[in-house]
Amino acid sequence: MNMAIINGHVIDPSQNIDGPKDVSIKGRKIQGLYPRGKAPEADKIIDAADCIVVPGLVDIHTHLREPGFEYKETIQTGTMAAVKGGFTTVCCMPNTDPVNDSVEVTEFIREKSLKEGACSVYPIGAITTGQKSEELTELEALLKAGCIAFSDDGRPVTNSLIMRRALEYSKIFNVPIISHCEDLMLSEGGVMNEGFVSTIVGLRGIPKAAEETMVARDLSLCELTGGRLHIAHVSTAGSVKLIRDAKSRGINVTAETCPHYFSLTDEAIISYDTNLKVNPPIRTADDVEAIKEGLKDGTIDAIATDHAPHHLDDKNLEFDAAAFGISDLETAFALGLRLVDQGILDLKHLIRKMTLTPSNIMGIRKGSLVVDSDADVAIIDTEKEFKVDSSEFLSKGKNSPFNRWPLKGTVEKTISAGKVCEWK
Ligand SMILES: [Zn+2]
Repeated sequence: MNMAIINGHVIDPSQNIDGPKDVSIKGRKIQGLYPRGKAPEADKIIDAADCIVVPGLVDIHTHLREPGFEYKETIQTGTMAAVKGGFTTVCCMPNTDPVNDSVEVTEFIREKSLKEGACSVYPIGAITTGQKSEELTELEALLKAGCIAFSDDGRPVTNSLIMRRALEYSKIFNVPIISHCEDLMLSEGGVMNEGFVSTIVGLRGIPKAAEETMVARDLSLCELTGGRLHIAHVSTAGSVKLIRDAKSRGINVTAETCPHYFSLTDEAIISYDTNLKVNPPIRTADDVEAIKEGLKDGTIDAIATDHAPHHLDDKNLEFDAAAFGISDLETAFALGLRLVDQGILDLKHLIRKMTLTPSNIMGIRKGSLVVDSDADVAIIDTEKEFKVDSSEFLSKGKNSPFNRWPLKGTVEKTISAGKVCEWK
């Protein structure tokens, strides 16, 4: 089937396009971009007037929870949440049950995604067996089975020698090692940022140094090995500075942050809303400013969601006992748009950080509307206002600190592999 998306304003950073264009789709592929009114005849016409038409967004940090935690999320519900949020590609973290440290689990995720997923799913394999930091997984076999990167996300690789080896292999295989930077001895028992607010509310803090010492270690190991390091969910000003310095010295590092780290400060925790509990924790206004500066100057390459859905029972607890995580796929783009309103990023820059750059980091051919690429497209009304209602999330996880926030930027339609996704 042929499809044409007409009257829209196309932004495709991969081709440096930012202007009125019609998009033609043939089957599962992009046939081309054309001047308004010049697209070839199509069986289906989608009118994108007053909207931007962009490559489907790419999330390189998603927790789909399956296998093992289907009461929190499944591949089906997680990918439905993704397409509703404008994402057509998600890379799923291995901290499932069992952990994705084997060919069997990788194959299970791939097969289930093809059968039940609403968009493309790329598994990230574990760096160490059972995420125990004791022995490396069979990296090559996992790559052959379909993993595109490695991470022990949810946990750090505590054994520095194993991290060194992983980075050495990352150079051979040319895939990123994604580091969840946390010194577990420093963060032990902590539930929020350590500082003035944690003292006021009487909750145990996690110092910024818990993140920064591990960022420093991994940058050092990256320099030693010449491997490919990607730092997940950067949350502190100190981490931004370390990464900026490393990049200026030519170290092969990339970094991501998530919407909550540029949208919230720890002062919000005065409410004791457990939806604000996330790891690493929400930091201070100074950190938020540094994260924004890092996004602006390119120190932070990409925006990822760290979509971490939880069941109500995991969050309806005292702050100390509640689970860490935010269900983020359905609000990420609208929160990103606030950076445009604040003058931090222009719209094209934001789109790049949510499409092309994350695809390049993962080495996948996504995030572009170039001829013959997968027909993954998001059509977004950047001016339309809405109020977040987490009860309407397609994700099973309703755990959002942004519930009831007025935002703008609605995803009107998402097309995944040439198919219009239905969610209403
Ligand atoms: Zn993490």
